[in-house]
Amino acid sequence: MEPVHIIGAGISGLGAAHYLSRKGIPSVIHEAGHSIGGRAGCIRSGGHAFEVGGKNFSTAWPRFTALLTEFGLNDFEPQHPGFHIVLKNRLIALEKSKTLSGDLRLAARLGLKSALQFRSFLAKARANADRLNYTSGLIEEIERRWDHSTIDNHFTRTLSDGPLRLFSIIMGAAEPDELYPSLLMLFASGFGKGEHRAIRGGIGRLHDCLAQGKSIQFGERVERIVTENGQVAGLELVSQTGQRSRVTATRVLSCAPLHVLKRIVCLPAYARVAADAVRYHPLALINAVYDQDVFRDNIHSIMFDAGSPLGHCSANRLHQPYHVRFTLSGRAARDVLDQDDDALLDLAEAEFSRRLPIRANRTKCLVTRHEGGICGYAPHFSRVKRDLLRGIETIQGLEIAGDYLEGHTMEGCLTSADLAVQRFNLEEPKREAA
Ligand SMILES: Cc1cc2nc3c(=O)[nH]c(=O)nc-3n(C[C@H](O)[C@H](O)[C@H](O)COP(=O)(O)OP(=O)(O)OC[C@H]3O[C@@H](n4cnc5c(N)ncnc54)[C@H](O)[C@@H]3O)c2cc1C
Repeated sequence: MEPVHIIGAGISGLGAAHYLSRKGIPSVIHEAGHSIGGRAGCIRSGGHAFEVGGKNFSTAWPRFTALLTEFGLNDFEPQHPGFHIVLKNRLIALEKSKTLSGDLRLAARLGLKSALQFRSFLAKARANADRLNYTSGLIEEIERRWDHSTIDNHFTRTLSDGPLRLFSIIMGAAEPDELYPSLLMLFASGFGKGEHRAIRGGIGRLHDCLAQGKSIQFGERVERIVTENGQVAGLELVSQTGQRSRVTATRVLSCAPLHVLKRIVCLPAYARVAADAVRYHPLALINAVYDQDVFRDNIHSIMFDAGSPLGHCSANRLHQPYHVRFTLSGRAARDVLDQDDDALLDLAEAEFSRRLPIRANRTKCLVTRHEGGICGYAPHFSRVKRDLLRGIETIQGLEIAGDYLEGHTMEGCLTSADLAVQRFNLEEPKREAA
């Protein structure tokens, strides 16, 4: 059987290859880089697993946890129980658990109105967690009521500068005035339910299991998806030395981010407009290991304020307060991301030390730049998604998966991959778009 040609060996591409293989359909993955995992990559060096992007999951995620069970990956580490945020130049604690005393402390820190808004928003997200996605009626209702303007316009200033900025930074590397409430709701529901965990030894263990027995061609960047008469006909590839080649392909599954997809395939005008509405925000992630604990005094995670190039920073694991993940993200970070690695590291440590002085020596570090960034979605994304999928439908043999379809978590990526594989099985011929 002719293989499905998958573009990209991130979690969407690896997941898609796995779901295809379960149906007995072979695949070949074309990966521009030299490693698997993409933005959830894991680099092992000197006894450390440097997770350079996505790593945390919720035990309430069905596809992610099903894979962990399937591969017998059952040793996990809990994530930190709460966050500290810099608000009005003070470091304050935010607890994840909801108790009456926790509510009272929140009200004391944020003010009553903000605390009530925050709790009611989170309660709504949790209560509807299973019904929130960009194809269900519920998220469309939220979009109709809320997505006419960005997050900052819907909540108190304290909330928008504080806890909701924390979500914006973590989930989109963006400011609250760059994201829309439906994404906030989707994200809060996805992470709000279940236990928050990471895989012992790193997310790379899951990727290794997914990649086992799959055909992955490294150093093959897809330059163009070739179509003839509305049907996929092949892929134009460029190697890292600049050598061009072409493979024949009648079934292609793009698992590259949307900003890549729109460059490599010719979409109908309405789908191009939809793709242009989706924003990706760049960031840099620094893994740094020290000879002593850096986090202390019950602090494991800090979100910095809007003027700081450091968006968020946390201990790699609760029991590793000496391994710090600095994330340079948000608007102020974008002005410094072109600086070299040492300068970024100096900036990160200086900003961090203003809140919690670093008294240890750095022994190892890795700076990773995500120039493509994190997907920030678009207002009224359900409509955007419909236009994108309708555009893809006009090209026979092409399917799409990735962080821009079902939420930009690893679970969202796996969901999009599973759905794309199911669409490949549809027997009716695709319709021409109106
Ligand atoms: C700093 C950071 C922290 C995050 N934290 C979490 C978290 O804790 N939990 C969570 O669930 N999610 C998290 N995320 C989000 C999650 O990591 C991403 O949504 C997910 O990894 C995206 O996977 P993907 O396979 O869709 O895309 P990618 O990982 O970007 O994979 C795409 C792959 O395609 C390749 N490629 C691109 N263009 C081409 C081309 N033209 N030809 C061939 N190959 C190509 C790339 O090299 C890459 O390997 C985080 C993201 C970041 C950046």
